[in-house]
Amino acid sequence: MYPDRVVSGMRPTGSLHLGHYHGALKNWIRLQAEQPCLFFVADWHALTTHYDDPSIIEKAAWEMMVDWLAAGVDPSQATLFIQSRVPEHAELHLLLSMATPLGWLERVPAYRDRVDNLAPHEQATYGFLGYPLLQAADVLVYRASAVPVGEDQLPHVEMMREIARRFNYLYGKEPGFEQKAQDAVKKLGSKRARLYNELRTQYQQNGDDEALAQAKAMLDEAGSLSMIDRERLFGYLEGSRKLILVEPQAQLTATARLPGLDGGKMSKSGGNAIGLREDKAGVTQKVRTMPTDPARVRRTDPGEPARCPVWQFHQVYSDTPTQEWAARGCRSAGIGCLECKQPVIDAIVAELEPMQERAQPYLDDPSLVRAIVADGVDTARKLAQETMRDVREAMGLDYT
Ligand code: ATP
Ligand code: MG
Repeated sequence: MYPDRVVSGMRPTGSLHLGHYHGALKNWIRLQAEQPCLFFVADWHALTTHYDDPSIIEKAAWEMMVDWLAAGVDPSQATLFIQSRVPEHAELHLLLSMATPLGWLERVPAYRDRVDNLAPHEQATYGFLGYPLLQAADVLVYRASAVPVGEDQLPHVEMMREIARRFNYLYGKEPGFEQKAQDAVKKLGSKRARLYNELRTQYQQNGDDEALAQAKAMLDEAGSLSMIDRERLFGYLEGSRKLILVEPQAQLTATARLPGLDGGKMSKSGGNAIGLREDKAGVTQKVRTMPTDPARVRRTDPGEPARCPVWQFHQVYSDTPTQEWAARGCRSAGIGCLECKQPVIDAIVAELEPMQERAQPYLDDPSLVRAIVADGVDTARKLAQETMRDVREAMGLDYT
């Protein structure tokens, strides 16, 4: 019913690192060739943690855009823009906030984590509590069906789905819908109508997803229906009446959580990252000083790859023979840790070098990036405005 759009964003709070590349950008680059994609600099989200020191945000925003382009995001395929230039995100966030139960936000793991670990001078803010809802608005305002992100974002995407479902349930009312849906059921013919009703009951009473999928497949095959009746019957299945907002799905890469130099999640704020602009000397120094299996105190002590953060990098960067060489060498103390790290260093350097070359023209002429963003903002705004017209109408804020 709506085009299969892809939406994702990143916070301009520092330089991009390998986690961003393996966890998200790789999927952005894959999807941009297949579907309409919108990628945004989440500057309002940066304020949720940097409201007292917003001076870094603008510089980080332009640098991040260069890093995306350098990694292979293609502005002739994808729309690149800055969140705060599309105020429809904020309008949808405000409207969604009216019907979002406080408990949904308070239960978000990232919020719990922050509240439990506040430093003495920090406080929990309204903006931080609401940021998963702003994320929901960022995605729902484009009716996106896919959100390519890292694993840490899964609970947020799950909440987006609940928010969309709740919105459609509350506001997706078409006058006389029930009667119209039942008329459409009759048009299925008696055999299919009976099956449809059975499957609908099974789904609504027992939440049986299999029944839902079966009913949808049956509707897809039923040739006798008009488009509008088919849409009604899809909506009627799930109890919602008209799909104004679309429930998106997360899209993970094979490396949905890249560990950092210390074995925890690689993160901008964790001081454990290898940046996409790191040169050979920087990469070499960082990997060479990475901790390894604590059991390998001396070169002759055998180790266990499962306990070593470097092994996780081998799993991302090395082919099978190299992995076997590293695992065998570690368990038998046949190789030293520095030896084991070298193929990882070489692979990271080889991955980053072409990116750094591709970044150069944009660094030399920043007006190129500004033009890309200006175009992207125009495109994104038009799409967001279409959704907002339907949202306002559904909520009785039409005033025409
Ligand atoms: P911060 O510490 O400021 O939260 P971050 O490094 O977590 O920074 P974000 O801007 O929050 O970066 O994340 C942007 C995107 O990159 C998200 O989709 C996130 O899931 C993904 N991502 C970030 N770090 C990793 C990682 N280590 N592995 C896989 N994906 C990651
Ligand atoms: Mg993060």
